[in-house]
Amino acid sequence: MEKLILFVDDSPTMRSSVSFCLRNAGYRVTVAEDGQDGLVKLQSIKDKGDSVSLIITDINMPKMDGISFISKVKESEFRFVPILVLSTEAEKSVIDKGRAAGAAGWLLKPFQPEQLLWAVKKVVWPK
Ligand SMILES: [Mg+2]
Repeated sequence: MEKLILFVDDSPTMRSSVSFCLRNAGYRVTVAEDGQDGLVKLQSIKDKGDSVSLIITDINMPKMDGISFISKVKESEFRFVPILVLSTEAEKSVIDKGRAAGAAGWLLKPFQPEQLLWAVKKVVWPK
């Protein structure tokens, strides 16, 4: 079965364009609209007996932002799932927080399909 990617972003436009790009490249995609929803989706994927190969997350989101989400994931049973950030946030202090929280990479919006797929291939290991 194709690898499953969880994409977390509060923008519906981003959710649909990034999902489209990833599905076109052969990945399965589940979307979540904020960090809180991301945690719920991780659990429900596991409950279905499936597993997430990669998480891609936004930073600025309501309810639970990307940094808190990354920290929560890294404290959970899902801590070995690699996490990439896709954000407009270019502030070094925020990027450093993301790195400290456990992000494997940081991509800046506007989102560029080739760049995203390259980063995804780098962190998603063959199974
Ligand atoms: Mg956002």
